[in-house]
Amino acid sequence: MLTLSSLHKRYGSKTVLHAIECRVEAGQCFWLVGRNGAGKTTLINILADLIAPDSGSLSFGGLSYDKDELAIKRNLGVLPDKNPAIPQLTGREYLQFIGLLHELPPDECSRRAQSLLEYFFDETEDAHKRIGTYSHGMTKKIGLCAALLHRPQYLILDEPFAGLDPVSAAKLVRFLQSYLSPERCIFLSSHDLGYAQKIMTHIGILEGGVLQFVGSAEEFASTKDTLEESILQILQPKESNIQELNWLLQ
Ligand code: ADP
Repeated sequence: MLTLSSLHKRYGSKTVLHAIECRVEAGQCFWLVGRNGAGKTTLINILADLIAPDSGSLSFGGLSYDKDELAIKRNLGVLPDKNPAIPQLTGREYLQFIGLLHELPPDECSRRAQSLLEYFFDETEDAHKRIGTYSHGMTKKIGLCAALLHRPQYLILDEPFAGLDPVSAAKLVRFLQSYLSPERCIFLSSHDLGYAQKIMTHIGILEGGVLQFVGSAEEFASTKDTLEESILQILQPKESNIQELNWLLQ
C-alpha cells in the first residue's frame, strides 16, 4: 500500500538517506526508530511531500506525488516534527480552518473538531485559547486533531508522544490501536519504545541513513533480548566512559 523504493537524499555532500526500501501494507503500523540524526525526520518529510528525494520513488496504493498529489493528500494525515499550527488562531478555529481546506461541510467540521477536542484535551476550554499560548504537549495534540479531522487512510506521525503527559500518551496509544484497521496504515517515528511497541506491527531501524532492519514485530522479537536490547544490538552504541564526567559527578 505504501511503498518506498530506493529513496536517496543528500544535503550538500552528506548522504542522509541511502537506498531506502520498504513496504507498509494496509492494516500495518510501521515504527521507524533510530538515534538522533539518523534521518527519520527527513524520511517522514519526504513521505509528507514537504521535501523531495534526490532519487527513488514513493507510492501510496499505486499513486505518486508526480501525478496524483491531490488524491494522495485527501487520504493522508500528517503530524510533522515541527507542527505548523497557526499561533494566532484558537485551537477550535484552527481545526475549522483545516476541515474547510479538506472541503468538509462546516457543521461536520465542528462536530468532528468537538469530539476530537473532547477526547484529546482534558480541558475543552483550551480550545478557545490561541495556539500561540499552548504548551508543547497541547500544540502536539492540536496537530494530531488536525491530522485526523478528515479520517485519513494513511497516518504519518513524527514523534507524536513527545511532550505528551502520561494520560494523554495512554489515550493516544488507545486511539491508534483502534484506528488501525484493514484499510489504513500508520507510519510512526518515535523514541518512546514503551508506547510504540504497543501499536507497531512492523519495525524499521534506521542508522546513518540506511535501514538496518525491516521486518515484523514477531521477526524482531524472535531473539530472547528485550526490545531495547535488540535495538541497541543493531545500533551498536560506542562505549561511553562515565568517568570522563568525574569533574561533574564528584
Ligand atoms: P532524525 O530525525 O533521525 O534526528 P534528521 O532527518 O532530522 O534526523 O537529520 C538527518 C541528518 O540530516 C542530520 O545530520 C541533520 O543535521 C541533517 N539535516 C537535516 N535537515 C537538513 C537541512 N535542511 N540541511 C542540511 N542538513 C540537514
